[in-house]
Amino acid sequence: MRSQQLLKIAKDFGGPVYIYDSEKIKTQYRKLEIAFRSVKNLSINYAAKALSNVNILKYLNNLGAGLDTVSFQEVELGLKAGFDPKDIIFTPNGVSIDEIEKVVSYGAQINIDNLAMLEQFGNKHPSVPVCIRINPHVMAGGNNNISVGHIDSKFGISIHQIPHLLRIVENTKMNINGIHMHTGSDILDIEVFLHASEILFNTARKFKRLSFIDFGSGFKVPYKKGDIETNIDELGEKLSVRFNEFCRDYGRELTLVFEPGKYLVSEAGYFVSKVNSVKQTTSTVFAQIESGFNHLMRPMFYGSYHEIENLSNLSGEERFYSVVGYICETDTFGSNRKIREIKEGDYLVFKNAGAYCFSMSSNYNSRFKPKEVFWIGGEGHLIRREEKFDDLIRNQVDLSNEVLAS
Ligand SMILES: *Cc1c(COP(=O)(O)O)cnc(C)c1O
Repeated sequence: MRSQQLLKIAKDFGGPVYIYDSEKIKTQYRKLEIAFRSVKNLSINYAAKALSNVNILKYLNNLGAGLDTVSFQEVELGLKAGFDPKDIIFTPNGVSIDEIEKVVSYGAQINIDNLAMLEQFGNKHPSVPVCIRINPHVMAGGNNNISVGHIDSKFGISIHQIPHLLRIVENTKMNINGIHMHTGSDILDIEVFLHASEILFNTARKFKRLSFIDFGSGFKVPYKKGDIETNIDELGEKLSVRFNEFCRDYGRELTLVFEPGKYLVSEAGYFVSKVNSVKQTTSTVFAQIESGFNHLMRPMFYGSYHEIENLSNLSGEERFYSVVGYICETDTFGSNRKIREIKEGDYLVFKNAGAYCFSMSSNYNSRFKPKEVFWIGGEGHLIRREEKFDDLIRNQVDLSNEVLAS
């Protein structure tokens, strides 16, 4: 989207505001489809936790996506958005059997990543098809915080536990219909991904009734100029060949599943906030915005980089700033950034604000969660109102003074 469009939306709707560009989501979705066009059955399941506004889910459903979910609440959101339960996969970690059973009752595909749970579930429901999440112990990511394939990870069933897994399946007579891995965010190296895929194929051979193989996600998108982006075309070419070969050997046309979050929505999102004040200190100039890690916590949580631009001054002099929030804790969005001269009341935009941004927002400091706007058909549509005071106290229970004095 153009800077003028973002500024106009921020002024029309009032900041702070998240803005999502529908065209970018569509472009990313089609790029994946095209890269894997030689695979007969392809399913792109959008990872709902990246951005879960029901309008975004509906939009992706209309594009033809399935849904990847990690909680029964996300499954319910998916159903509300119109997804067929058959197109929803539930890939939780550390949830109770009650939650899994609830999702089974909705008709969604379940994915189990723990042997104790698999045995318990298989004993109770041997006829329900189950996908299993494997940990191939391959790290495709760079950042330790978001790499989930390593040996100490809490995710997945270790490939070294396959003999035990097979015993459970044999004993319970349960039906394993899918094999899954998700090796973590940020795949830099396609060879690493292909290596993990071979481990997945080897595991898949041990099961006779599969209908799909799910390769997870972790596709990398650029956050700043010069960043490497996962080469989807190259991955598509190489993995499709291997997948089609595997299907021929296996004797059945399986479905190739991906579950991208970031790849589909990261670059489509913008967060725009007004500048409250510009504060000169002994070491830097702070631009203090009308927001904080209550709205956008990735920079503080993961040290992630979000490009910042001054929408109100697109051609002025560049100066160095530390952009911070209003939360009573250190909440630095970016330090020592070169940004065009900032004045009070200017609007700053944070790029790559589609994935894991609104969905990680909170009410810390008793602040309201911001509004969301969907840019579609050349127009901005409000898809979430800003919260109000009532939202903050809705679930609080007032005790009487008598009780409080006791
Ligand atoms: C979070 C998650 C994804 C999405 O990861 P991205 O890096 O956003 O693409 C996919 N699958 C599972 C199981 C996840 O937990």
